[in-house]
Amino acid sequence: MEGKKDKQHELDKRYLRMAKIWAENSYCQRRQVGALIVKNKMIISDGYNGTPSGFENHCEDSEGMTKPYVLHAEANAITKVAASTNDSTGATIYITASPCLECAKLIIQSKIVRVVYEDEYRLRDGVDLLERAGIEVVCVPLEE
Ligand SMILES: [Zn+2]
Repeated sequence: MEGKKDKQHELDKRYLRMAKIWAENSYCQRRQVGALIVKNKMIISDGYNGTPSGFENHCEDSEGMTKPYVLHAEANAITKVAASTNDSTGATIYITASPCLECAKLIIQSKIVRVVYEDEYRLRDGVDLLERAGIEVVCVPLEE
């Protein structure tokens, strides 16, 4: 019974690694997060955490605190799909860190059916909400 499951696990790791590389685009200093939305083996969107378009490229204020209007990687990836001709229904989102509650709401509304992430965030409420919505949530640690 090898095959399909292992293959999916290998793919999951590959996309997560890509999300991790994508996170390097983030100019946030406290934490860099990347997200990719994959549908039918195609990357239909990507995102990393950062300020909204047109704003300064600094995520932290003078005290080093993350500004409240910084968008999370997942939110950027989801809004990018919404503004395109693509549709995230049935897609998988790969995130370098587990989603927060706000992003979990967006993931549910965008009809994404699977969430794969690497790092466990300290709060579990986002993951709990996703599971309540019947979304498959998988934590895949990347050993390096
Ligand atoms: Zn979030």
